[in-house]
Amino acid sequence: MQKNSITKKYQNLVSQINNFEDKFQTLTDNELRAQSFKLKKQYQDSKDLNSVISESFALTREASVRTLGLRHFDVQLIGGLTLNNQKIAEMKTGEGKTLVATLAASLNALTEKGVHIITVNDYLASRDHASMSPIYSLLGLNTGLIQDDMSKLDRKKNYNADVTYVTNYEVTFDFLRDNIALNSKDVTLRPFNYCIIDEVDSVLIDEAQTPLILSDNFETPVDKYIIAAEIVEYLEPNVDYTVDEKNKNVVLLDKGSQQIEKILQIQDLYDTSNPWIPYIINAIKANALFNNNVQYIIQNNRIVIVDEFTGRIMPDRRWGDGLHQAIEAKEKLPIRQKSETQAEITYQNFFLLYPKLAGMTGTGKTAEVEFEKIYKLSVDEIPTARPTLRKDLPDLVYKDQFLKWNAISKTCNEISSKGQPVLIGTTTIEKSEMLAELLNEYKLSYQLLNAKPENVRRESEIVAQAGNRGAITIATNMAGRGTDIILGGNSIFNVQKELYDILTLSRNYILSKDMNIFQSPLKSQFRCTSQNFLSVLLSLLKDPMFLELSDIGILRALKENDTNSIPDLPYQCAIKFLIDELKTHYNKNQKQENQIVKNLGGLYIVGTERNDSRRVDNQLRGRCGRQGDPGTSQFFLSLDDNLLRLFGGSKVQTFFQSQMLDDSPLESEFLTRSLDSAQQKVEERAYQQRKNLFDYDEVLNKQRNVVYSERTKILNKESLQKNIIAYGEQMITDLLLEMTVQNYSTKQIISVFENLFDKHFLVNSDQKPNGFQQYLFNEFWLIYQTKINEFKVHGDGFCESMERNVSLLNIDFIWCKHLQEMSLLREAVSWRGYGQRNPLYEYKREALQAFKEQSRVVKRLIINEFLSSSVL
Ligand code: ADP
Ligand code: MG
Repeated sequence: MQKNSITKKYQNLVSQINNFEDKFQTLTDNELRAQSFKLKKQYQDSKDLNSVISESFALTREASVRTLGLRHFDVQLIGGLTLNNQKIAEMKTGEGKTLVATLAASLNALTEKGVHIITVNDYLASRDHASMSPIYSLLGLNTGLIQDDMSKLDRKKNYNADVTYVTNYEVTFDFLRDNIALNSKDVTLRPFNYCIIDEVDSVLIDEAQTPLILSDNFETPVDKYIIAAEIVEYLEPNVDYTVDEKNKNVVLLDKGSQQIEKILQIQDLYDTSNPWIPYIINAIKANALFNNNVQYIIQNNRIVIVDEFTGRIMPDRRWGDGLHQAIEAKEKLPIRQKSETQAEITYQNFFLLYPKLAGMTGTGKTAEVEFEKIYKLSVDEIPTARPTLRKDLPDLVYKDQFLKWNAISKTCNEISSKGQPVLIGTTTIEKSEMLAELLNEYKLSYQLLNAKPENVRRESEIVAQAGNRGAITIATNMAGRGTDIILGGNSIFNVQKELYDILTLSRNYILSKDMNIFQSPLKSQFRCTSQNFLSVLLSLLKDPMFLELSDIGILRALKENDTNSIPDLPYQCAIKFLIDELKTHYNKNQKQENQIVKNLGGLYIVGTERNDSRRVDNQLRGRCGRQGDPGTSQFFLSLDDNLLRLFGGSKVQTFFQSQMLDDSPLESEFLTRSLDSAQQKVEERAYQQRKNLFDYDEVLNKQRNVVYSERTKILNKESLQKNIIAYGEQMITDLLLEMTVQNYSTKQIISVFENLFDKHFLVNSDQKPNGFQQYLFNEFWLIYQTKINEFKVHGDGFCESMERNVSLLNIDFIWCKHLQEMSLLREAVSWRGYGQRNPLYEYKREALQAFKEQSRVVKRLIINEFLSSSVL
């Protein structure tokens, strides 16, 4: 192990952990578990986790050796310590971060307050949960898993576990949904405790560009979108409008406005009582800046956003402020209702809700500033367990796209014909398909993986097999992130796939009463199987419970059986046996193949363009050279790549014109430097945008915390009587003050309250305001008591639940309105000419005012509604 400062920093703790090893090896499983309970007790007494770190880490390591046969390397212990220290552990791809998380998770689970391990998709959550649970279970800790299709009840159960595996998306939406729940039974999450985010840069940076929104639909002026889309076809770029590609913005020129006013036969495009301008601007943007198969795809007549960084589709996200509808109009698709935000939060502010936060990734260092500034997370680079053998070749730069893509396909042909596997990363779906066409010309077979739905399903499987001998895999940016590319193929995937095919096909034969399965196409599937295998398979196919499983059910059964849990039904036992048989077969095969591919030089990574951040490039490079494997990475670039074109500056262009006389590629220091600085410019810009989102959200975030914590209290209180009385008194005080400021006469004031309480007051009109306030409090109290008595007739708890419902519904209603208002305000401050004033400052000031007003209004609404409610 290489000695660096981080190794030194944790030297003592690592040797303490190592010192426990001999002792723990002699314990039985039960004794090991007892040791874990002892630590729990120790923590409950002392409330000090630090004093049990080394013992807990050593226990987890021993549990892992016994259950999975994996012994945490010392560098993995350092990774775990870094996680427990609330930092980001940068550990290269393939270093075993999944296993690293178990150390910090088991330790923090001793608090019994729950640990969340966040992954980027459901597949990874379920894979990591399944593969790591045996460790936790040996230690007496239970685990939970959240998946997209789960019910509230199941979610709650799984969040109550000691360690829960869940995606960033699910946990954030559960949080938002919990905060519109009307009953404490519907709340799924416990208070947050400790959270480890895997692929932390993907979650906290790439996905933190837009807030997550929980929404309801409302009326949309569909016609305006359609007309605006038609009008844009008559406009000419640079005459009627200009496009700023860098900032993703458009500006309508005077000539354009006049033209549009003429077509629409209106006086003023900017008239606020008949707003057209937002529709026009969005229509121009939709036309000039958004392209099918680049920023979005069309699926089932809908526009689905493609994440520009990861190349993944984001089915539940929509562009805000009418842009999504404008694109729908452009593509002549049905225009979906604009939705009303019920709750929203950014990932930035969501994850800051955890009192203890940590993350891991292969690529974090280049984004360290952002992690520190926004999340107060620093990045520690953990040395690799074995030295890295990857060769990063210098970039090759071509004169144009044509030469570049030809060189890429030629390289793919040469490399793969030797048997060395190639993985090509592309930035858009369009380009991945274009490359596929080129490879067709070479008659090469390849796997194409992009955000299109037909491919996403197989994403992990395709990536997992990218290390097969001679395999060519084309993938958009970070597709299949988190999946292990093993040289010579991934035997676990092979086993699952093979068995799935055998089971579904042969079951279908049985169900169709065609018993001739051995004459069927299945025959080839049996080539590697023993007699034992066949007889167990046949007995399985007679099991009625098995025959009842759907294809998905079979897939689940396979996955569940692949863990170390003990199956309890006969058909599960049979599947387990079949898996073991196939595993033996494939593992033998895998070892040979692995050696062959290693000798060929390992995985060859081809980059087809520098990405918008160094991080994404490094992510691609990092797919090879796993755990000391050999591997090569090479980027192919061209002068007209977006990055150079938009951010290269004029010097680069001049340089090229002087150099590029023929078709051969160029390598130059100057060029690499220009590329690096262009890339940093883009990174900086993207960071500023996220920082901006974060700064604006900060105000809303404080307000959200106030509202949500008030809400949670209301949800959990037995009785709200004290709240209602306080609200009522507050309302009276506020109203009195308002009316005094506005110089109302005492008589007027009395009549306002008479109306409000629906009652005639027996006071004389020159009563002193001070005593009057107390009088009003008493009156309010009396009316409230009458109401309570009225409701009591309807049974125990009726009044309480009435109070709760009225309070929560009004809080939600007002919060929702406040969110709309804030979104309008955000837009307004960016348009409004504030002169020298700072829009963010203005926004904050007005947001605070609005919030104060809302909290006054909500109390009034609750009181009014409660006092006027009755049961028929
Ligand atoms: P990462 O998330 O860092 O890219 P993974 O968690 O996917 O890496 O692990 C990569 C591979 O390394 C897995 O096949 C895993 O079983 C293996 N691995 C992890 N830790 C160890 C260890 N201590 N000893 C042996 N193999 C390990
Ligand atoms: Mg991983």
